[in-house]
Amino acid sequence: MHSSLISKIEKSRTYAEEKERVTFNTFSTSFRGNHNSYDVSYDGESWHCSCPFFATRALCSHTMALQRILEDMLPKEAKIEGL
Ligand SMILES: [Zn+2]
Repeated sequence: MHSSLISKIEKSRTYAEEKERVTFNTFSTSFRGNHNSYDVSYDGESWHCSCPFFATRALCSHTMALQRILEDMLPKEAKIEGL
């Protein structure tokens, strides 16, 4: 393998350990809940989830779980205080 590619692979391993380098500005996911799957997304300004709970509260176990999963990879605006 080309030596420059090897050094890129090594660098990628270091980067992968430093998740705070990455910020998800927008994203769309399919979340498998216990009973159904839901579309959970963040559009750069607000969260969305297709579950019934989110429709009334503007947050739910799926959006909160993704906040825990992504942690420092979310922009500040996407984080809900106290989670
Ligand atoms: Zn939900």
